[in-house]
Amino acid sequence: MSFSHLHIHNHIGSRLDAIASPEGYIKKAVELNHPYLAITDHGRLNGIYEHYMKCIEYGIKPIIGIEMYVYDDLIVEEKGKRKRTKTWHIILLVKNKEGYKNLLYLNYLSMKDSEHFYYVPRITTKELFEHSEGLIVGTACMANPFAYHLFQKQPDRGKELFEEYVNVFKEDFFVEIQLNEIPEQKLVNKYMMLLADKYSIPKVITGDVHYLEKGQNELQTLAIAIRDKATIDNITFELESKNLYYHDVDDYIEFNDAFQFNYKKSDILQWCDNTEYITNKIDFRFPKRRRMFIPKMSEDDDETLIKKAKEGLIERLNVKSYSEVPTEYKRRLKKELATIIRKGMSSYLLLIEDIVQFAIKNNIYGMVGRGCFTPETKVFTTNGYKNIENINVGDVILNENGEFDTVINKFSYNIEEKLIQIGNGHLTKYFNYYSTTDHKYLIKRQKDISFIEAKNIRIGDYLCLPKISYIEHNIDTIDLNDFNIFGFDYDDEYIYEKIPTNKSFKYSIRDISRKIGVARETVKRYINNGNTTEKSRNKIFQYCKMDENSLREHIEINKFIVKKVKRFLKVDKLFNIIVGLMAGDGYIKKDNYISLAINSETKVKNKEYFLKFAERILSNDFTYVNKSKTRKLEQIYIYSKVLVNFFLKEVIIYDKHNKKRINNKWLKQKKEYLHYIYLGLILSDGSRDKKNDRLSFDNNSKYLIQNMIEILLKIGKVFSLVKREKFFRDKYLCNPSYKLRIFNPDKEDNKYIYLRVSRIKKINKTKTKVYDLEIKNKSSFLINNFIVHNSVSGSLIAYALKIHNLDPLKYNLIFERFLAAERSPDIVVDYFGDEDDL
Ligand SMILES: [Zn+2]
Ligand SMILES: [Zn+2]
Repeated sequence: MSFSHLHIHNHIGSRLDAIASPEGYIKKAVELNHPYLAITDHGRLNGIYEHYMKCIEYGIKPIIGIEMYVYDDLIVEEKGKRKRTKTWHIILLVKNKEGYKNLLYLNYLSMKDSEHFYYVPRITTKELFEHSEGLIVGTACMANPFAYHLFQKQPDRGKELFEEYVNVFKEDFFVEIQLNEIPEQKLVNKYMMLLADKYSIPKVITGDVHYLEKGQNELQTLAIAIRDKATIDNITFELESKNLYYHDVDDYIEFNDAFQFNYKKSDILQWCDNTEYITNKIDFRFPKRRRMFIPKMSEDDDETLIKKAKEGLIERLNVKSYSEVPTEYKRRLKKELATIIRKGMSSYLLLIEDIVQFAIKNNIYGMVGRGCFTPETKVFTTNGYKNIENINVGDVILNENGEFDTVINKFSYNIEEKLIQIGNGHLTKYFNYYSTTDHKYLIKRQKDISFIEAKNIRIGDYLCLPKISYIEHNIDTIDLNDFNIFGFDYDDEYIYEKIPTNKSFKYSIRDISRKIGVARETVKRYINNGNTTEKSRNKIFQYCKMDENSLREHIEINKFIVKKVKRFLKVDKLFNIIVGLMAGDGYIKKDNYISLAINSETKVKNKEYFLKFAERILSNDFTYVNKSKTRKLEQIYIYSKVLVNFFLKEVIIYDKHNKKRINNKWLKQKKEYLHYIYLGLILSDGSRDKKNDRLSFDNNSKYLIQNMIEILLKIGKVFSLVKREKFFRDKYLCNPSYKLRIFNPDKEDNKYIYLRVSRIKKINKTKTKVYDLEIKNKSSFLINNFIVHNSVSGSLIAYALKIHNLDPLKYNLIFERFLAAERSPDIVVDYFGDEDDL
């Protein structure tokens, strides 16, 4: 006699429905001597892993399964609306590897799209049949498809469907007999037994278990109430059966009497015993975790690693033999080697050594170092510069791609050593950080580019800053008709914008009124709707020398004017200058015009560009220049609805505070075009400090500043950013604004910009902290020449193998950090921040 539960729900996969944990059930199975235990949650597999692992732990044989929702027509409509249908329940158990694959696939299907997932994840009977191999099917509860047809008074249809299941699943199909207090259960059991007998399908007792102990039904009802957002006093749904606890065979015998099923005791025992017939079929184990395959680097990589590490350490510590290596190093190496060898990672380290050595020999950028940013090192954030020590998790900073990225971790170490400052020309003022003397910089010395430790850098060397590379995405032409949501006529060349006009009449209303002695209002009314006295009308006809009909026709025709707007807009230098100008000094009125505000004395060029652009767009002249009477300001307008619509949708984005930014797609264009956007921005909001030969860009839109920074990083300019908080100028409150100072590099090529080292300042041994950050998206190096800390520096073996140059014992870097798989730090630091302004 052997019984195992084949239909059981736990609190992971049947959340807020079942309330017991896998472990709870498993302990019970051990206690009651049930050899197998299934998991069959409603429509979900998320509990299977824990169930499986716990079963293995307690020596119970796990069965992976699901109570799947099945229906024939996924979409049922009623009165044109999707209707929630009754979905049937079917138990699927994994028999073998093929079955596991099919279960995963069916589970995927059930959530694949809104057709399948409607309130619950569902599949069709057809899909189940198509992926039936390796699955054992049980007929589940009263919500099974066969009982459904019985209740629908279509027992024959139920029988047909049953026969289909028999044909598909053959001996891997069993009928579930459930014993509970629900009156209809007897009817269902009777029907299911009838079918089972007709097709010689085994009958198996299942518990549809939802909780561990008798009496926990109330707790379960509470869980359901939480799920349904109901209150205890106002329970909207509860299960009819109050006995869905973890049963043993005796419980079924008791239920048989208590609920008056009156089956023969021997039958009950037989049906319990039949669970063994099912479990005997099951032969499935999760595949063992696959080993990582790393090429072998030598005959015996463990031995090689030990040998190399010892030799490396002798060299690093400059001693004659291993016996001279200080004890603390020996101890650390022993510990690291033991771990690495035990984890089977010797080949990995040797492989990395090989790669790093190759990179060093070939001057390839890619060494690792230690976090060595002193506390005052400036990090560029979306809120201007911050000292690295003040950076918080959650701050948004720039990564190597010029994209904004979130800080997810911050580290610091105490050090006590000499520090050094590397300065550059006119930027020296902005240098305010020190690095450790062993910190390596990417340096161009004559023709060579290589990493040089700070203490060996000389005046006249060049610091290398990598230019941001990105994938170009160029756009050639814009079809403005894509933005013609107004229904204007168009052809291959033009869009014909129909615009209502005041010039509905060729004579001036004032003139008519004066000449014929009729009130202006009266004339206006006549023009608008023909409504006036006959006497006035006649006077108007006389004046215009037209009869009534021709006058009305004339007015109608002139109510609209048609503007010809060139349909195709070329994306070129001029266009990109306009993007920059509009982002700076432009204004777009949603349903009317695009305009540019300029100072007519100083911004002559802006006006030229803008009018040239207008000429390109509009075949007939519809620009309008509005000169301020008192100041030297002008506003130039381009009237075109499609153009406005295009600009608002695709070019300039306004946030809810009316702050502008440029649509990112234009910042992905080739560098040449970014230069023109840059030019447009500088022409609008830039200024030049002649004395220092320095450009500034001021704006109060954080987003536009971000746009500008992205452009600068891509076209290779050096910058500093200052944020000015709200301040009062006289009585006026000025909003926070930003000032970008922009510098040209001393030299540049395709890959780097170069800054000449003009000052080197050393300071004595200092006790300080060094910092390091980790950002969300991995990246490999910084915008300036800092080498980024990498966790590998926590390994003495890696130091011995010259994978990095930091003695972890000297800097107290722990091995455990090296082992942390998730570590992958990287940040972008720009150290040109202006301390005075912050
Ligand atoms: Zn069910
Ligand atoms: Zn169930």
